Formats: sequence, structure tokens, C-alpha cells
Amino acid sequence: MKTVIKNGRLLDSKNNFHMTRADILIEDGIIKKIGENINEEDSKVIDVKDSIVAPGFIDIHVHCFPKGTAISSLPDEIGVKRGVTSIIDAGTSGADTIDDFYENFIKKSKTRIFAYLNIAHQGLKTLSELSDMKNIDREKIKESLEKYPEIIVGLKARASGSVVKENGVNPIAEGKKIASEFEIPLVVHIGNAPPKVEEVLDLLGEGDVVTHCYNNKVNGLIKEGKVISEAREAIKRGVLFDIGHGSESFSLDTAEEGIKEGFEADMISTDLYERNMITPVGSLENTMNKMIYLGWSVEKCVEKVTYEPARAFKLKGLGELKEGYMGDLTIFDIVENGKLELKDSVNKVITAEKYIKTKYVFIKDELIKKEDI
Ligand code: ZN
Ligand code: ZN
Repeated sequence: MKTVIKNGRLLDSKNNFHMTRADILIEDGIIKKIGENINEEDSKVIDVKDSIVAPGFIDIHVHCFPKGTAISSLPDEIGVKRGVTSIIDAGTSGADTIDDFYENFIKKSKTRIFAYLNIAHQGLKTLSELSDMKNIDREKIKESLEKYPEIIVGLKARASGSVVKENGVNPIAEGKKIASEFEIPLVVHIGNAPPKVEEVLDLLGEGDVVTHCYNNKVNGLIKEGKVISEAREAIKRGVLFDIGHGSESFSLDTAEEGIKEGFEADMISTDLYERNMITPVGSLENTMNKMIYLGWSVEKCVEKVTYEPARAFKLKGLGELKEGYMGDLTIFDIVENGKLELKDSVNKVITAEKYIKTKYVFIKDELIKKEDI
């Protein structure tokens, strides 16, 4: 099956497209050609009428395994219906439940789904998954990684008092040991102490990821307007930082302070799940729109949901507009003088005038309209 996406303005700075006019030929789900005036016999033509065409957006922190926990949403509700072609489930499943997740959700969804395997074998079935060190089972993790090498792109550990209870930083240290052994990133949620965020950061190295980086909790990365020295040291070692908005983990004021201090999140993600699908998170697009409100360019925001996550998690064939890559696209417009009310996790409300508005995604040879939320 052949499709030509016509009259788009391509946006992918990695490949030097800066709202550049060009057509894209996609054949059997793969980008075959990018160029001016492509006319291909026997192809379907989609005229996007000057809209912006970016690599399909990737949301690296969501919860989309409804049987694994009480809080998840369905994958396509978070993914293709919200303008996103790939999502990474952030540890909803552990070694005990990854088969169920794979068979009943990953295989059956239009959205591409990857996963960070929870270091606790039961995943998020209970929400104090690391209160017992016995829940971390190296052998079970090893088996899952061997069984799903294309799906599992990291391990996940939650470093919050309510999760680790008496164990402090020990589960995170154990998770890091296992992640290092299998050469896979450890993605760490930060929240209320214990453990102290400083202790957590000291454990992490190149390629590991800290999510919820702009939360405004006492145990956060920015204290009294200053980025803590342990975070600066972590950046030097190659630790990556992700927004992971969530119900309680994104403050516009904290983000603004961080940016002022030169502390820039490497990736933008939502932490979408059932309870925040309407507000305060809503979509990846609106999380990007909050960063646009704070001064980031559209181009920068797109990099942080395409190329940057593809690189961080070695997602093959994703995140770029390039021949031979997957024909996954997010098609959107920029509104310059609009009025869009957005709320963060601590009830601060802003009205954005400039924002992006997604129209469609294109994935696996199919054009899917973004649903209004
Ligand atoms: Zn979290
Ligand atoms: Zn989460």
C-alpha cells in the first residue's frame, strides 16, 4: 500500500527540516521517499494543506495496562486518539504481568507500545510495590528481558516514601544494579522522601532517566529557586530528565525556575492515566503547550517528543523523518492568537495564546483523526 502525504511543512531538525515544504511517500508503513512534488502511480494521496508534519510523537511516560492496576487507561485513548503514535508504559506491569500486557494490550492496539518493566514483579498491582525487597526478583526480570527484547526498553522504580516504606533508597540501588547488569536504562520516579532525592541521584549514571523533574515537592530537584548540586552532577554524568506531568508532578512555576537556572528537561511526557485524562494533563500536546507558554519553541518541544526519546531508549526507526524509518507522523497546526486554558498539577491556570493543535496521526498506513478532549 502506497500513500503520498502532500503539501506538508516538515518539522524535524535532526534531518534539517524546519517547516520545509515537501511530500512524503510511505509504502507499507515505511518512509520510502521525501521530496518535492512526489507523484506516485497507484498511491493514495492525502493533502494536508500546509499543516506541519512531524515524526510521530512519542510519549515516554504513560499507564496503559488497565488489568495491571486500578489507574490505567486504554493504550489507544492515550496514543493515536491523542495525536501520539508511540507510548511507553512506565512500569504498570512487572515480570508477573508482562505476558498479559503483551497479549491483551500491546499486540491489540494501533498505538506502538513499549514498556519499562517494574522492578517489582507484581508491577503496580499494589501501590507500595517496593516496601518488600523480596518483590525485586532478578531472575524474573532477566526472563522478561529475554522474552521481550523489542518491547522492554528500561526498568522502572518509584522512589517515594509511600512505595518504599522502611526500605529507603535500597530498592533503587538494587534496581540500578540489575539495570547495569543488563545494560538497560533505569527510569526513576521521584516523589516524597524517603528516599532523599540526593541519594537517588547519586546512584544514577549515563542513560538513566529521572521522571517528574519539575514537581514542586519538598524532596524535588529545585530548592528555593536553585537546582540542587546532585542534579547538576547527574547531568554531567549523562543522566536524563523527563517531565512526566501527572496529577501531582508538574508545576509551571517550578519549571520556570528550572529553565531560568538552565535546567532543561530532555524529554516531555504526560504520565497519563485514567484520573488525569481530562485535567490537569489531558494530552501530550497540552503538556508541550505548557512548555511553549514558558518560552520553548515548537521545534524544541517536537525534538523532545520525537528524536530525543527515540535516542534515549534506542527506539529503532522512530523519531525522525527519514527514508527507511517508520511512516509514523503527527500532523498539526500552530495557533498564534488563540485562547487555550491550561492547568498544572498544583492548580495554577494559564491562558496560552500560541499553541499547537493536532489534527491527525498517520501510522501503519492509516490516517487517524485526533479526538477532541
Ligand atoms: Zn510517578
Ligand atoms: Zn507514572
